[in-house]
Formats: sequence, structure tokens, C-alpha cells
Amino acid sequence: MAGSHENLIVYFNGEFVPWEEARVHVFTPAVKYGAGVFEGICAYMSDQGMNVFRLQEHLARLEYSQRVMRFERIISAEEITQPLIDVVRRNDFKETVHIRPTVYVDGVGESSALGPIGVSVTAVSRPRPKIATEGCRVQVSSWQRLSDLSMPTRVKAHANYNNSRFAATQAKTDGYNTALMLNAKGHVSEGPGMCFFMVRDGKVVTPSITSSILESITRDTVLELCQSELGLEAVERDVDRSELFAAEEAFFCGTAWEITPITNIDGFSVRDGTPGSITRSLQSSYFDLVEGRTDDKRGWLTPV
Ligand code: PMP
Repeated sequence: MAGSHENLIVYFNGEFVPWEEARVHVFTPAVKYGAGVFEGICAYMSDQGMNVFRLQEHLARLEYSQRVMRFERIISAEEITQPLIDVVRRNDFKETVHIRPTVYVDGVGESSALGPIGVSVTAVSRPRPKIATEGCRVQVSSWQRLSDLSMPTRVKAHANYNNSRFAATQAKTDGYNTALMLNAKGHVSEGPGMCFFMVRDGKVVTPSITSSILESITRDTVLELCQSELGLEAVERDVDRSELFAAEEAFFCGTAWEITPITNIDGFSVRDGTPGSITRSLQSSYFDLVEGRTDDKRGWLTPV
């Protein structure tokens, strides 16, 4: 059952089909081995209509992911842009939308199959969750973040999300909202689907791109907003676990997580357990930007 999604239209291998018809066989390498890559992209309503945020950067990462997976056919940004916009248009959304282009290995091959390639784009409504305002409680996971020696975390591959899943399900079972993973060097890496930031001595700090993270587009946006909108120094470096308990503020960022305050880590309150002022300022700059209330001077909004 597709639940509330059942009336939606999906782009599926060259056609626009009802939700229920966008199906793959259980014997595809996509199902058997997680042989697929995807993107998560948001479109926001503004006074002038709906805009997709940083579409070209997401589609460039989708191309990169496919190349690293050695897919026999690469779905280019050019090829997928119009179908993606059409999916959003056809579903006539009234609020924030989460768009997921997926490129996967279809057919009946083994785990090393490079094709045939299937492609889809789904779009579903995504109201902002309560934790965006209230903040979240985080468990430092005993599951280690994948290392580039075993699976490339820069590639947004389905199979990578089993690593995320172990960390997230453990955290939820143990009564937290989500997890924060350490990498093979013991430094802070990222959450199951989002990147980590903290504030120390008034400076904004985030793990560097060589910390086994996905090279997050929202992280890049946050670094830009720190400098251009808030005039704050932002540092990309290794972050130790024990620094988490010295942080004045902490937050997660990602397309779906936007900017979500972290109020507690492993039972230690961050600050007084409420979101801090830098987190709040960044959050409102981010919302103003994606929802089209500030000038799009960087060309990051694509009208639907
Ligand atoms: N890390 C992981 C593992 C993710 O799945 C995501 C979500 N795409 C992020 C970080 C944040 O990346 P982005 O800002 O590009 O959405």
C-alpha cells in the first residue's frame, strides 16, 4: 500500500505513471544487492511559486555517484532535469516537496552487473517535523561510519544506507531521536542522513570532507551562510568525540533535516538543552533562502 502517496504521479523509465505502477522485480541487482544511487532534493513554496533548491548541484552528485558505480549508462543532469520538474508540476503540490531521483541496476544480473539501467523520480509532500523547532537528542553510535576503504561515503548509494540504518535503529531503540557516527580514525563523522556542526568558542566547526561524510550540499550552504550572512568564522577540521561535550551549540544539516538543533548528546545537555542563538540565526537564514524570502544572488533556486 502506498498510503497517502497512492494518488501521485511518478516518472518511471521515460513515462509518467501512477504511483502503484512504478515497480521493479525482486530479482533485480537493485533489490538483491542495493545496486542503485539516488538524490534527495527539496522544493519549497515561495510567494512567486515553487522552487527547487540547488537542483544542479544535486544532479551533478547523482552523475558522480553513477560514474563511481560504473553504470553502463549515465543519466545526465541534462536528461533528468525536465522530467524531475514535470513530476513536481504534475502532482500540483501546495507545500514542501521531497524529490528523489533514483538510478538503479535493473534486469537479472549478479552484484557486478553494470546494467541495464533504470531511472525514476518520485516527489512526496514533506511537512517540516517538530524536531526542527524543538531539537533532537543524539546517541554517539557504537556503529562506525563506513570508511572509504570499504564503501565510498561520497557516493549516495542505496547500500550505504544500511550503515545509517544500523546507527539510527540502535539510537531509536535506546530512546534517542537519532545517531552521530564516528569514523575509522575515531573522529566525528556524520549522522545517518545529515552532517554535523557545532559551535566552539564562538566559531562554527564541522568535520572536514575527508571524515567519511557525504559531501553534503546543505553543509556547503551552511558554510556559505556563516560567512556571507552571519559574518562568522567557519572551520572544517577533525572533530574529537570529547569536544561534543564542550560544544556551546550543535546542529545537524541536510536536505531533509534542513538545520535541526541538537539539544542533547549521550545524555549531556548541549547548552541548557535548548537551541542556541547561532543555530537559530542560521536556521532562519536558511529558511529565508530556500523559501525565497531573500534575494537568490547565487542562483540556487530553480522555478517549477
Ligand atoms: N550525509 C548523509 C549520509 C546523507 O544521506 C545526507 C542526505 N543527502 C547528508 C549527509 C546531507 O546531504 P545533503 O545536504 O546534500 O542533503
